[in-house]
Amino acid sequence: MDVRTRITVQGIVQGVGFRPFVFAQAKQRALRGQVRNNAGGVLIDLEGEPGAIDQLIFELTANPPPLARIEAIYRTDHLPASRFADFRIVASSAEGDRLLPVCADFAVCDACLREMKDPQNRRYRYPFINCTHCGPRFTIIEDLPYDRPATTMRDFPLCAACTAEYHDPLDRRYHAEATACPACGPQLYLTDHEGRPQGLIEETLEHSTALVADGKILAIKGIGGFHLACDALDRAAVERLRQRKLRADKPFAMMACSVDLIRRYCVVSKADEALLSSSSRPVVLMEKRSGGEIPRCVAPGVNTLGFMLPYAPLHHLLFEKLDRPLIMTSANVSEEPIVHRNDEALKRLGAIADYFLLHDRRIHMRADDSLARTRAGRIIMLRRSRGYAPQGIKTAFRFESEVLACGAHLKNTFCFGKNHYALISHHIGDLENFETLSSFTEGVEHYQRLFDLHPLVLAHDLHPDFLSTQYAAGVAGAQKVGVQHHHAHVASCMAEHRLSGPVIGVAFDGTGLGPDKTIWGGEFLVADFARYERRAHLRYVPLAGGDAAIRQPWRLALSYLRDALGSAAALPDLPGWQELDGKKIRLVQSMMRQGINSVPTSSCGRLFDAVSAILGVSHEASYEGQAAIKLEGVALKGVQESYSFDIRGGTPMEIDLRATIRALVVDALQRKPVGFISAKFHNTVAAAVVELCRKLRVSEGINQVCLSGGVFQNVILLERVLERLGGYGFEVFYQCRVPTNDGGLSFGQAAVANETVKRGG
Ligand code: ZN
Ligand code: ZN
Ligand code: FE
Repeated sequence: MDVRTRITVQGIVQGVGFRPFVFAQAKQRALRGQVRNNAGGVLIDLEGEPGAIDQLIFELTANPPPLARIEAIYRTDHLPASRFADFRIVASSAEGDRLLPVCADFAVCDACLREMKDPQNRRYRYPFINCTHCGPRFTIIEDLPYDRPATTMRDFPLCAACTAEYHDPLDRRYHAEATACPACGPQLYLTDHEGRPQGLIEETLEHSTALVADGKILAIKGIGGFHLACDALDRAAVERLRQRKLRADKPFAMMACSVDLIRRYCVVSKADEALLSSSSRPVVLMEKRSGGEIPRCVAPGVNTLGFMLPYAPLHHLLFEKLDRPLIMTSANVSEEPIVHRNDEALKRLGAIADYFLLHDRRIHMRADDSLARTRAGRIIMLRRSRGYAPQGIKTAFRFESEVLACGAHLKNTFCFGKNHYALISHHIGDLENFETLSSFTEGVEHYQRLFDLHPLVLAHDLHPDFLSTQYAAGVAGAQKVGVQHHHAHVASCMAEHRLSGPVIGVAFDGTGLGPDKTIWGGEFLVADFARYERRAHLRYVPLAGGDAAIRQPWRLALSYLRDALGSAAALPDLPGWQELDGKKIRLVQSMMRQGINSVPTSSCGRLFDAVSAILGVSHEASYEGQAAIKLEGVALKGVQESYSFDIRGGTPMEIDLRATIRALVVDALQRKPVGFISAKFHNTVAAAVVELCRKLRVSEGINQVCLSGGVFQNVILLERVLERLGGYGFEVFYQCRVPTNDGGLSFGQAAVANETVKRGG
């Protein structure tokens, strides 16, 4: 009177050692039946003792394999028996829903690390050790089904010992597609900058460590691309790296061997520690400790440092003899994508790195390190890439047809939507050159192949000149949906939090084109996925010099000063302004008088840049947002005051901060501490957000507020806004899993395009 129980497990359960886990559990309990992958996840049939079946299900939920993420378990009892003779794993078919099976790349697991440190183990000190619970995935897959012949590991036929493990369902390396050992797998080697081999292969690691200790710059091939590495405590080496990489001020990420070491330099919260140690291993931004020995040139002018823990086995080996942090910055040339092939590394990085630590495992897809921080125990993604992409985000709504959203111009990602999943790509970069555009198109094609996607709808930004927009225009046979930039920001936040709206959307960022062809960036929208109405915005200020002004915030300052004070502003008395070139200032002023090359914008990002320059905190910026970040960095804690401002009625309403600028100039002329003025300014912007939201709540009857856009990376502003809106009883949402900056834009575009098409738009 045998009966069969069927269990369906959904979530991330394929390619993570789930079937062998079920196999071992069933064997242990003398259960018969089978396990196999199916469209939605894993399907298990069990026959035997009912109590044992209960236990097995308990184990599945309580102690699943480390990389599995179970979303749902369904159980059906009393099915007719199939009279299985034993328990077995049924091979996967290439059929089914391809949305689920590809995982992100994960850090080496503890079991592998133990083996790597065990002199008796055959993988002792082997830098490419991995198993079904860890190792590279996304970056080495060329095609589906996810099997060794479809990965770059096909270059390495398995030896007899590895073959045996690969076929043994009770082994941790059962169907570990990237498995390898010193006898059959990839090898490490060191070359100079011209590709000439250095030293003995067996001494490669010792040699590399010694070179770093000697102040040399190494290009190190990792999981998703190359890093440029040097001793982070060696000021001369760090400065040399900056000069050679032509990177003036943008902070460098670091890698350290342990959380304890990181604690010497940063304030590490419990949540930071968990995030640092997670198998995704992002770079985590944390507050810098005063008096730490990290040279200023690692992260000039900011009060945070970005650290990650070793994730590739190679990193662990490198740190065996290093008691100090390393700079580990993405190896790219100026704004191009991260270098990921050996030949291009030697060609492009030859003038930057002294030595190259290479290996012969090919990286098929690039993936930059992810970047995140934590707030109140929650993770906030700032760049979602290695360790996260291509994992899907489950949406509350269904994609009616397959959508490809082409994303933003800067910090580009693209996003596919299918059924209930959004697949947001790895970080592509700023779509400003041919190399990045190629990386974008290669990425899109790769996702299409991997997940069997055939988008019928293409979403893009309204800006006609963006390469992403032009890409969409060039694809034949699909419906095109233009999505306004700030609507996409708000939709991204709504979709992440599974809201359907309407919400009050506060979108504060650098720039985005409005349908009226002006540059938006300080917007209050009432929005759902289908539509938005612009209810308020920051006052337009004509920016002298257009895009040049982004790198030269002093130009922005002139525009805002002229707007607030008229042309007779007494600049020379402002802090630090004597040092600026008076001739250039007069030139820009005369341009402004004549209205030459000045573009009106309501951008909140530019406002922060301008205030930073007015106060002399930052007159120049070598990367986008630098002046604003420095302004945030100097703000004093515990300041409650704010400046006054005006809200002018109308549709849309206008937030006029001229009174703020005037009062702030008075404070600056009286030489009040710049940190005090900065804090007061942050409070003012927060107060304006709160006042607008309160007005809109009255007129619209909406209590949900979605904050989005790059300006909300500003922690002080975010905290102030959350605290005050919360105090007034608003339900406030900000972005966590998906970046609030333009990296999260594609997700919002996909959601809007889906709704537009659904409504026959
Ligand atoms: Zn492992
Ligand atoms: Zn082997
Ligand atoms: Fe934006």
